[in-house]
Amino acid sequence: MINRVIPLCDESATLALGERVARACKGATVIHLYGDLGAGKTTFSRGFLQALGHKGNVKSPTYTLVEPYSLENLTVYHFDLYRLADPEELEFMGIRDYFADNAICLVEWPQQGAGVLPAPDLDIHLSYQDQGREAVITPTSPAGEEVLSRLAR
Ligand code: ADP
Ligand code: MG
Repeated sequence: MINRVIPLCDESATLALGERVARACKGATVIHLYGDLGAGKTTFSRGFLQALGHKGNVKSPTYTLVEPYSLENLTVYHFDLYRLADPEELEFMGIRDYFADNAICLVEWPQQGAGVLPAPDLDIHLSYQDQGREAVITPTSPAGEEVLSRLAR
């Protein structure tokens, strides 16, 4: 599959990428967000949620593991699995329900849920580049390919 590499020179570029990806998603989508602490995963998620009509703050749900956002036509679940001790905890949380129907799931630290998390549609790797960041977007399903092709337009 073909990667897209997107330079993000400042915070506003990360927010704008989140907005663009949000607008390119049609229906249920699972996005895995990789990157070190401070790489911009939550900033991306904030842009994503604001593009879908969320007003107000977006924080990493580091202690609660997941924050639901009920938006106009859909629900977005924002996960941060940094503090997940064991992927099996996700089973106790009822993880399947989150990935149902019309929901979009944004997952920070998906590697922490390996083996239990459902397969994603897009992988986004964020990394430090000089003062800014870089995003590498890889589709991992046919739906993810479509999101990426809509993003190109
Ligand atoms: P993460 O969720 O990956 O730990 P955050 O989204 O909380 O990271 O971002 C950490 C910091 O990086 C924030 O202060 C944010 O403003 C900044 N930041 C985000 N994107 C960029 C960028 N493209 N260039 C420079 N700083 C950025
Ligand atoms: Mg975060």
